[in-house]
Amino acid sequence: MPHDPPSEFRLSCPVPLDLHTTVQMAHGGGGRAMRGLIEGLFLPAFAPPGGPRGPAHDSAIIPVGGARLAFTTDTFVVSPLFFPGGDIGKLAVFGTVNDLAMAGARPQWLSAGFVLEEGFALETLGRIVASMRAAADEAGVQIVTGDTKVVDRGKGDGVFLNTAGLGVVPAGIEVTPARVAPGDVILVSGDLGRHGIAILSVREGLAFDGALPSDCAPLGALVEALVALGAGLHCLRDLTRGGLAAALNEIAADAQVGMELDESAIPVAPPVAGACELLGLDPLYVANEGRLVAFVPGRLADRALAIMRAHPAAPDAATIGRVTAEHPGLVEVRNPLGGGRIVDLPAGEPMPRIC
Ligand code: MG
Repeated sequence: MPHDPPSEFRLSCPVPLDLHTTVQMAHGGGGRAMRGLIEGLFLPAFAPPGGPRGPAHDSAIIPVGGARLAFTTDTFVVSPLFFPGGDIGKLAVFGTVNDLAMAGARPQWLSAGFVLEEGFALETLGRIVASMRAAADEAGVQIVTGDTKVVDRGKGDGVFLNTAGLGVVPAGIEVTPARVAPGDVILVSGDLGRHGIAILSVREGLAFDGALPSDCAPLGALVEALVALGAGLHCLRDLTRGGLAAALNEIAADAQVGMELDESAIPVAPPVAGACELLGLDPLYVANEGRLVAFVPGRLADRALAIMRAHPAAPDAATIGRVTAEHPGLVEVRNPLGGGRIVDLPAGEPMPRIC
C-alpha cells in the first residue's frame, strides 16, 4: 500500500445525455502503488459500467453546451507548511491551476477547502490565505467557493487544503496522452528537482550556498503561449510527485510508445544535483511544482522551444528526447558515452508529503 492516500484522480463523464460515456482518470501519484490503487479500486468503483476509458490525464474534459470545460481537484498535505519559495496555500492554487493548464485549458475558477486542526494559529492561517489570494491574482484565477472543517487537536496536522478548479479548453485544442506518437519531440520547461530539494532541505536541515527555492509557479500563461501550436500541441504534463520519471512512464504506458532521452540535455541546476548526490536521489524522480513536459511533432520542435524560451516561466526550456515506436511503455536515458538505462516508474512514494 502507498504511504499516502491518492492525491489526484478525475472521473470524466462527457455527454451523459446521448449515453456516449467516457471515463478518464488522472493520477499524479508518481508511483506504481498509487497507479495500482487508482486502477484497481477507484476506476472500477466510479467508472460507468461498460464505458470506454480514455488515458489518464491531469483534468477531466466535460462538454458543456458548445464549450469544453477542464475540471480537476487536488489535496495538499505538504510538510512543512512554509518552505523556501512557497507555502501550502500557494502550492494549492498553483497545483490546481497547473493541472487545468495541462489539459490545454485556460484556468479560471477555483474552490478552496480547509481542514483545520483545533488550536491552529489564526495568524498562520491568515498568512496562508493571503498567499492563496496573491497566487490566484498572479495566475489570473478567482477563488469563488470554499469550505472549512475543524478536527480535534491531535487528529490533524495544522492544516490540510483541497482545491478544485475549472477552466475552458480553447477550440481546436486536444492535449492528451492519447495523441503522443512516434516522431514526437519531448521538451521540458526548465531545470528539474527544485521543489523536492527545497522541501527536503528544510526537513533534513541542509544548508546550501545561497537560497534554493522551490520552482512553485503557475504554468497557465506558458500553456496559453503554447496553444499557438494548435493541433500540434499533443500532450502536456506537470512534473509533480515522482518528477520527470513518473510523468514520462505514465504517458509512455498510456500511449504505448517508447521514449529515448538524452541525459546530457536534461537540465539540473548544480545545487540540486549536489543535494541529490548527498541524499542519494535521482533528480529525474524529484518533484517539481512549476515545470512541465511537452510533446510536439518533430517539425514543430524548434517553434515550441522558441515559444518556451521567450516566456518568463521557461527561459531554460530544453529539448530532451524523442518518442519512438520501439519498446512501447519504456523510458530509456542515453548517456553521452552511448550507454543507456531504463527509467522505471518509482515503486513507492520516495518523498511523502511533498505537496
Ligand atoms: Mg498534474
